[in-house]
Amino acid sequence: MTSLPKIDMHVHVLGNGKTGSGCRATVPMWQVPFGKIMAKGIGLNTSLADPLLDMLYVEKLIHWVQSSSFDKVVVLACDNLYDEAGNCHPERSGVYVPNEYVLKLARQHPEFLPGVSIHPARADALLELERCAAAGAALVKLLPCVQAVDCNRAKYKAFWLKMVELSLPLLAHTGGEIAMPVNRADLESVDTLSLPLKCGVNVIAAHCGTRALPWGRDYLDQFLVMRNVFPNLYGDIAALSQVTHLRTLEKLRESPQQLLYGSDYPVLTAISWVRLKGWVSKSDYRRLRKIKNPFQKGFEFTKALGFPETIFTDVNSIINGPVAA
Ligand SMILES: [Zn+2]
Repeated sequence: MTSLPKIDMHVHVLGNGKTGSGCRATVPMWQVPFGKIMAKGIGLNTSLADPLLDMLYVEKLIHWVQSSSFDKVVVLACDNLYDEAGNCHPERSGVYVPNEYVLKLARQHPEFLPGVSIHPARADALLELERCAAAGAALVKLLPCVQAVDCNRAKYKAFWLKMVELSLPLLAHTGGEIAMPVNRADLESVDTLSLPLKCGVNVIAAHCGTRALPWGRDYLDQFLVMRNVFPNLYGDIAALSQVTHLRTLEKLRESPQQLLYGSDYPVLTAISWVRLKGWVSKSDYRRLRKIKNPFQKGFEFTKALGFPETIFTDVNSIINGPVAA
């Protein structure tokens, strides 16, 4: 019996575009210290201004994936913000990663699956969906509150139906966001994904609607209710390891159905909070602390929390295209 590939389906690629990747990243001053902590945590000794950043980032990513228990990771593009008339506003998006870049990375490296990003307000949205699907896209990633995507707009129905036709699932950010500028705070709920769900798209609510900051609004309960209504609604546990996430982890450990694994790399896994809760043993805690590979740390952390192994493989049944280990 061949086992299904283990997949981390929520991995960010970042770059400054200085070597022609087409990427763009602007980080507000207050986020610079967090960026430095993340860079150190993933073993990247460089800065956002480094001309070789894009290449170094990918090299490090490949190194970590190859020396982890994961067979593949989905590397995510990030589209610009568009208004409802279809005008692009690059100045309002902190990060841009072109589809062509993740498609190219996936062609070059068998560890990568491409997660493209297409704002449905784009004039060429349907054509770009078809182009990306033909080029091997595994899923579509959107951040409704950052990119200003009101998924429930009737006008986008054709876009969701095209995704169903092309067997492309949607990975959509839900809950609070702190790494990127929030342009539409009213689009953080799981409810905002109702129309694609009703159209039959397999939707993965990233972070299961969990808040990012203690005073933020939490949509976990909404996720739990909607998961029972829609068999095509999944959640991921990306970046859920901080003190604000403990309630979510507690609930999801009790009922881990329709749950998929994402790391949100380069976001790091914090292991102290679950230790304080007593969810991992002292020896597991010591073992986890010693793991330097961020992917392996996330993998072992998830297993130590008691999530089933299927959390790493169930995504195989919904992503586009056959995936071989
Ligand atoms: Zn993310």
